[in-house]
Amino acid sequence: MTQTLVRINNFINGEFVEPINSRYLDNIEPATGKTYSQVADSDAYDVDFSVAAAEKAIPDWSKQPTAERSGFLLRIADLIERDLEKFARAESIDTGKPISLARTLDIPRSIANFRFFATAILHTGSEAHITDNVAFNYTLRQPRGIAGLISPWNLPLYLLSWKIAPAIAVGNTVIAKPSELTPMTAYMLCEIAREAGLPNGVLNIVHGTGPNVGSSITAHPKINTISFTGGTATGRKVAEACAPFFKKVSLELGGKNPNFVFADADLEAAIAGSVRSSFANQGQVCLCGSRVFVEKSIYKEFVDRFIGQASQLKQGDPLDEQTEQGAIVNKTQLDKVKFYVDLAQKEGGKIALGGSAPQPPNERCCEGYFFQPTVITGLSVSCRTNREEIFGPVVTITPFDNEEEVINHANDVEYGLSSSVWTQNLSRAHRVAERINTGTVWVNCWLVRDLRVPFGGMKQSGVGREGGEEALRFFTEPKNVCIAK
Ligand code: NDP
Repeated sequence: MTQTLVRINNFINGEFVEPINSRYLDNIEPATGKTYSQVADSDAYDVDFSVAAAEKAIPDWSKQPTAERSGFLLRIADLIERDLEKFARAESIDTGKPISLARTLDIPRSIANFRFFATAILHTGSEAHITDNVAFNYTLRQPRGIAGLISPWNLPLYLLSWKIAPAIAVGNTVIAKPSELTPMTAYMLCEIAREAGLPNGVLNIVHGTGPNVGSSITAHPKINTISFTGGTATGRKVAEACAPFFKKVSLELGGKNPNFVFADADLEAAIAGSVRSSFANQGQVCLCGSRVFVEKSIYKEFVDRFIGQASQLKQGDPLDEQTEQGAIVNKTQLDKVKFYVDLAQKEGGKIALGGSAPQPPNERCCEGYFFQPTVITGLSVSCRTNREEIFGPVVTITPFDNEEEVINHANDVEYGLSSSVWTQNLSRAHRVAERINTGTVWVNCWLVRDLRVPFGGMKQSGVGREGGEEALRFFTEPKNVCIAK
């Protein structure tokens, strides 16, 4: 008997609707390699339909008192929190990430995103400028209209809610497109939005592929604001599509993040932090430190102890509570990881740990997309493996002689998203932080996130910043009102 699969439909004007073309894509569970639901394979017509709904909702939504808009976001946060376990399980099944990670990171952060922007809008001020005895200026910050939000598969609800919350908090309406690989929690969010009583048309979600739905959003003349998170090559296409319309664009793109361990570091903390930053979410976090540079005098000890800890990471069924390393998101990404591990060897690298698929953890997962945490040593700093984003559980470890040399190596890539510096020398920490070209520098920590700080990348890791004030400013249009005295 064939089982009917759950169909993930679009959410437009407060209703779940089938795609106009009636087409669906299979949604595969990475841990099993099997289709477990279907997702709307929408196109430009569905985007048009959602734009009409979003446009209709603007006048009322943008004029709602701030405290009322805040109330809707707080209700959404409370309802996700009520269903945290359901969301965590769904995120784990959809992405292959360990359920413990979804429960402690992805879903709590999604809740925090709604709470943060719900309360931020209650506490913002606006500037005034007095022009001597001539005039008085004040700045109005008004919603921009319809925002298009496009997000990737690695942190599905976490990143999508990081865009939806500020956009609607300040009075915009939105068309959001999650990755078609991981649409489930976005679908569940729509049920929550309905339960919270969010007015129709404020949040619209159109599912489908980047070339169909994503590019229809970026090309739509009525969507004047685009917030995109994804790979650098896609970001370039998004920028090109937006340029002719002069859309306001925020791009959060890829990374090849350096992690510096100086001989004066607290080695235990540096090793634990580096293992986590290399392999969290199977290395599929844009902020993962994929290039570890270690000062020569402690290199051997660091590598031995790092491998010792990394080899203890428990690989397994993502739904197993003990699992620390789950599955890779799909076959394409798994093949990409394998390609780079082969390339690293051709480039003279030595596989010091991992390098292949593990034994399947159980019968259920025998066709899943798994790869061992992999450590590569002996590579030159300038080889492709050390310059290109792999986005998997693969880290390179390279020795260095001095501060000057390692800063140059770290900066000599096209990316500039984040970095970590491990040292007990405060002056060194300040010096390196000042000279490293990344949007975030962590000192003696990794992935500590305060939602108020500017977040984003330099160079080809992005344009613009998200977080706190930056996000509220991005989603609003400043208008100066000048009154003669
Ligand atoms: P992609 O760039 O492939 O996709 C990102 C999103 O863009 C997806 O929803 C995708 O749709 C969509 N898309 C694809 N083509 C187009 C197009 N032509 N126009 C508009 N949208 C399009 O990235 P991945 O999903 O593979 O995510 C991994 C990448 O994201 C890594 O490079 C990672 O570093 C980066 N990233 C950056 C972060 C940051 O904050 N800087 C955070 C997290 C990830 P679909 O996949 O459904 O076809």
